[in-house]
Amino acid sequence: MVKEMMDYVAERDPEVGAAINDEFMRQRRNIELIASENFVSETILAAVGSVLTNKYAEGYPGHRYYGGCENVDVVENIAIERAKKLFGAKFVNVQPHSGVSANYVAYTSLVDPGDTVMGMDLGHGGHLSHGSRANFSGKYYNIVSYGVTPDTNRIDYDEVRALALRHRPRMIIAGASAYPRVIDFEAFSQIAKETGAYLMADIAHICGLVAGGEHPSPVPYADIVTSTTHKTMRGPRGGFIMTNNAEIAKRIDSSVFPGAQGGPLMHVIAAKAVSFGEALRPEFADYQRRIRRNAAALADALVSRGFDLVSGGTDNHLVLLDLRRFGLTGRDMEQMLDCVYITANKNKIPNDPENASLTSGLRLGTPAVTTRGFTPDDMARVAELIFLTATDLASNASRIRSEVEALCARHPLYEH
Ligand SMILES: *Cc1c(COP(=O)(O)O)cnc(C)c1O
Repeated sequence: MVKEMMDYVAERDPEVGAAINDEFMRQRRNIELIASENFVSETILAAVGSVLTNKYAEGYPGHRYYGGCENVDVVENIAIERAKKLFGAKFVNVQPHSGVSANYVAYTSLVDPGDTVMGMDLGHGGHLSHGSRANFSGKYYNIVSYGVTPDTNRIDYDEVRALALRHRPRMIIAGASAYPRVIDFEAFSQIAKETGAYLMADIAHICGLVAGGEHPSPVPYADIVTSTTHKTMRGPRGGFIMTNNAEIAKRIDSSVFPGAQGGPLMHVIAAKAVSFGEALRPEFADYQRRIRRNAAALADALVSRGFDLVSGGTDNHLVLLDLRRFGLTGRDMEQMLDCVYITANKNKIPNDPENASLTSGLRLGTPAVTTRGFTPDDMARVAELIFLTATDLASNASRIRSEVEALCARHPLYEH
């Protein structure tokens, strides 16, 4: 089906069609280790490609500003009900276009411009939207950042508590983009309660793990939970928001529309509904288990090849390499891996001596390769290929490429 859809575009618009086709070939050819990426099911692709893209549906099911919404109402209600069931949340809004849009809505629902907000430092694994000066969050709010401790490279909850007691934030954000360890949402909620702050949990990366029972859920603890749907969750590119508080739910709904967005992307919401449906099946929990097993296997094999891992290992779907021992920057390593068809991204490590365009780290994740069917043994091979790339790319490049090709051929993508 993927092939037919691509050919359809290519026949009618060769310019765009060729680029889509090239991207398809790249996705099939490369070992995808970007921790925030995944491959959606053909059902999700078809829903995103559906005629629902034609429909304007400002408002919410039963309360729209346009006629003809009876079918998209059904779709949005299915998405909401499935998400509620999957996460055990009382209220869900599935309209945010992306993770950052969902976070914007969380800020505008809970705090006012100028208020103090605590979030994890971007350089320590946090996200741009948790208070970076380059983002709205750092521009409109008084940000106090917490990080990981130098000895363990983990969040120190006593330190977070001390910071919160000193700065009295109105909101604390728990969540990260490059943190390989479990986040203790219960500990965060105790700190928030003690210091009179709202707790916002951002599970963009670990959403699928939470849904599959492989990471503790923040839903019982946080005032607002935001997420993407396209990372470990393996749905379409998008965001959503949950809460158990009826009054906060009302604020969220009006902060999304008309506060921050106009018409919802109903084709994407249909695909979110399909994705939540897929996640309610028992196979999804098994998939999430395999993501973690693969990440653990990758971490073990990298450590035995002499790589330094930030925090020494992983509890979730990602590992963060500290490349300094190999005399490489993150940018070097990202480019070298690109040459052998392995895709990853440079990433700052805590207290990185290099700037954001160089970095000393590399972030690797297993959600996408696990979708392809990679096993822990395959991950050990991948670690070996990463080692060969780091130590002697020149004499091994063609051998690495053919091993990558063989691994990908064993685990084909979109074959039907
Ligand atoms: C990826 C991510 C986001 C942003 O999602 P987009 O869809 O790219 O806007 C937000 N928060 C965290 C923690 C993330 O990792």
